[in-house]
Amino acid sequence: MPAPNIDTIVSLAKRRGFVFPSSEVYGGLGSAWDYGPLGVELCNNVKQAWWRWLVYERDDIEGIDSSIILHRLVWKYSGHEATFHDPLVDCRECKSRLRADKLDLPADAVTEDDVSELIRKKLVKCPNCGSNDLTEPRPFNMMFRTKLGAAAEEDDPTALAYLRPETAQGIFINFLNVQTAMRRKIPFGIAQIGKSFRNEITPGNFILRTREFEQMEMEYFVKPDAEHLNLVEEWVELYMEWFVSLGLERSNLQLHEVPQEELAHYSKRTVDIMYRYFPERDEEERQWEELMGIAYRTDFDLRSHSSKPVDAEGNRVNQDSTEDLSYFDEATKQRFYPHVIEPAAGVNRTVLALLMDAYSEKTNDKGETRVILKLSPQLSPIKAAILPLAKNKPEIVGMAKAIKRSLQPVLRAVYDDTGGIGKLYARQDEIGTPFCITVDHQSLEDEAVTVRDRDTWEQERVNIADLAEHLQKRLKP
Ligand code: ATP
Repeated sequence: MPAPNIDTIVSLAKRRGFVFPSSEVYGGLGSAWDYGPLGVELCNNVKQAWWRWLVYERDDIEGIDSSIILHRLVWKYSGHEATFHDPLVDCRECKSRLRADKLDLPADAVTEDDVSELIRKKLVKCPNCGSNDLTEPRPFNMMFRTKLGAAAEEDDPTALAYLRPETAQGIFINFLNVQTAMRRKIPFGIAQIGKSFRNEITPGNFILRTREFEQMEMEYFVKPDAEHLNLVEEWVELYMEWFVSLGLERSNLQLHEVPQEELAHYSKRTVDIMYRYFPERDEEERQWEELMGIAYRTDFDLRSHSSKPVDAEGNRVNQDSTEDLSYFDEATKQRFYPHVIEPAAGVNRTVLALLMDAYSEKTNDKGETRVILKLSPQLSPIKAAILPLAKNKPEIVGMAKAIKRSLQPVLRAVYDDTGGIGKLYARQDEIGTPFCITVDHQSLEDEAVTVRDRDTWEQERVNIADLAEHLQKRLKP
């Protein structure tokens, strides 16, 4: 049983130190969230699992970490300056600013023209006040602007820069650097994790849509010898397996083939993996939102950033680039711009899906309902909690603290004696700690402890000398 709605996770996340509303002391920022002591561990574990899966366990992917602020021209030639827009609509009545494609529209309203027509005919309502007095959609560029350097005038165009709206461009402009430095042959991929920024018109739904978020993107470069539309499917399959291996229920994942008219300017085909973030909604088709997208970007980006390509009149398409990002294939002695398949996932949306899917409730012998966060142990913020059964017994406390210290180098462990054992177990269950280890009077005699399993509540006795190995074995993904 996953969480019944996002709100359940919002309150658990705040209560237990996963995610806090940002800038709360000044009334909050609405769309921004801060990750607390447990949230940062969970995010790190997701990112590490992704990195391990792609960069370490495969032989064909390298990792990088590029700048958040890139040369402005990167965003000119990537097409973002001209086209990274969302359609903005104003409500004349309540002054809300709305995203046209997220309004309550009939299923056959696909293009912006369709939406304009419906708005003109007053057939679309403002979700905030119900008025049908809306402006027609107009493009709103979502890139955050900033200025570089101390001397910059208010609107000095030479100082204009943007916070990156995707991590992908940092990969494309480093394609040749990575390929030559690492002596890579095609096919190979480059992976990157990092913050991206989008001035979303309507952020919301907790960490699902924020203006600052983290992406895990990978560009996989292949020969342009065919239309690689089917490679999209291969990566979709790999990611579906990966999400399931992290603990997501297959039935809460769904694929969405993005229609041609909605494709991003660089994409020839995109399939989104959707997660059931809104299980409380009656209509099944309204329960889903994008978890990640897998796009076939062809050679669009490498070509756009290269100095050599020319248009029909023979003029250079990119007048500013000083490099040619083509690849020379030694085997065939051919030079070409590789094609690219891009799986782009959000850290925050993955974390939200994992929290929702892991949420469960269980009733104990006394009829009390407990929350159990059944996170995959590899992702749990804390792997083991060491709990002394008698906190007024210095030998037991000393032994418990020593066990915590001895485990800490191999796995994240905590010591807690701030309640009765029932309460301590309940607290650890609620944050997804797979193992609680109790130290009791018997432990002083037999040098053994009780290991309690989060999901089954079963207990077993384990020698302290074998404890680290025992836990590590059971923590293996
Ligand atoms: P959406 O249609 O939901 O705005 P998108 O299709 O524009 O998303 P992409 O450009 O494909 O998103 O970005 C890849 C991934 O980055 C998304 O699947 C999502 O996981 C994450 N992402 C994008 N925008 C946001 C955001 N505003 N907040 C949190 N995560 C985001």
